[in-house]
Amino acid sequence: MKRRDMLGLAAGTLGLAACGEKAAPAAAAGSAGQPAPAKADKPIQWTMYTTWPRNFPGLGSGAAHLAESIGRLSAGRLTVKLYGAGERVPALEVFDAVARGSAQMGHGAAYYWKGKAPAAPFFTCVPFGFTAAEQNAWLEFGGGNALWRELYAQFNLVPFAAGNTGTQMGGWFRQPIRSLDDLKGLKIRMPGLGGEVLARLGAATVNIPGGEIFTALSTGTIDATEWVGPYNDLAFGLHKAAKHYYYSGWHEPGPTLEAIVNKEAFDALPDDLQAIVEAACAQTNLRMQSEYVARNQQALETLVNEHGVTLHAWPEAVLTALRDTAATVVADFAAADTFAAKVYASYKAFRDQVLPYSRLAEEHFLRTRQPDGGA
Ligand code: CA
Repeated sequence: MKRRDMLGLAAGTLGLAACGEKAAPAAAAGSAGQPAPAKADKPIQWTMYTTWPRNFPGLGSGAAHLAESIGRLSAGRLTVKLYGAGERVPALEVFDAVARGSAQMGHGAAYYWKGKAPAAPFFTCVPFGFTAAEQNAWLEFGGGNALWRELYAQFNLVPFAAGNTGTQMGGWFRQPIRSLDDLKGLKIRMPGLGGEVLARLGAATVNIPGGEIFTALSTGTIDATEWVGPYNDLAFGLHKAAKHYYYSGWHEPGPTLEAIVNKEAFDALPDDLQAIVEAACAQTNLRMQSEYVARNQQALETLVNEHGVTLHAWPEAVLTALRDTAATVVADFAAADTFAAKVYASYKAFRDQVLPYSRLAEEHFLRTRQPDGGA
C-alpha cells in the first residue's frame, strides 16, 4: 500500500525532466527568507537497468532492494523503477544506456566494461586480490572511490559500491582439472582480469551475461564457466550441465557490484537526495554480502547431497601457475593504460598496507577457530 502510494505520487514524472527542475526549489526562498523545505520538491522518477535477470538471487534482488530503499528513504521524492537484463537493453549495454541518459541508474559490475575502460576491473576485483572487507576498505579509505569517480566521470557516470558476493567459487567443469594442460583450449566463461589469466594459460575465455550462461554451458557453446557461488549457481541449474565444482574463486575473492548513476541526473539532485542514493548503495553493499554468507552453505549442501556435484580444490600446481600468471597479467594490464596504472598503484599501496594484518588476524583466526583446522 505504502509502495503503491509512492509510485502513484511519482506517476507521470519523467526523471530527466524532473531533474531539470531541481534548481527551482533549492533557489526559492520561503516567506521567512529560508530555503523552501525539501518536501516542496516535485517527485522524481528514475529508471534503473540491471545486468542481471530481474529478481535473480542476491544480484537482481539486491538491485531491487536498492531501488526500493531509495524510494523509502526519500519518502517517495525519488523513486526508481527497475528493469532487468534484456527488458529494455541487453545486459552488457547497461553502461552505455545510463551514460547517455536512457536510464538514470544501472546495476552491474565494473569489470564488464574493461573494453571501454581498462582500469574498470580494479573496481570489481583483482585475481588473488582483496577480500570483500579489504575491497570496501580500499574504496572507502584507500582512495579507491575517488579514482573510480574520476574514471567514470569521463563516461558521464557516477559509480557507487552497491553489493558484494564475498569470495566466489572457481567454476564448473565437465571434466576434472588435474593439470595446466587440462585448461588449454577450454572455452570458459570468465569475465574480468581472471579471464585474462586463463587466456594467458591457453584457455579461450569469453564473457557472456549471467542470464545466458546455463544455455551456453548445456549446449556446449562453452566448456566451463564461473558464475558466483552456490547460492547463485544452484538457482541457475549449472550443476545440470557440469558436475565438477572448483574452489575457491581466486579470480573473484571479494567482488564489488556497482550502481552507476547518470552524472547529470545525479548532479541535478538536491544534496539530501544525493546523500540518500549514497546511503542506499552503502546499505545494499553490506546487505548483499550478508545474504551470500547466509545462503551459500545451504545451497552447497543441496548441490553436493541432492545433485551429485563433486567439489574439488584447485590442484596446488595449477593454483601456483594461476597466482604467478595473475601477478603478471594485472601488472601488464595496468601498464597498458595510464589511468589503470594510477589505479594499480593505489591498489598495490593499499594491499601492502593492509594485507599483513589480514594475515595475522583474520587468516590465522579462520584457520584455527575449530580444532580440526577445517571449515
Ligand atoms: Ca563471477
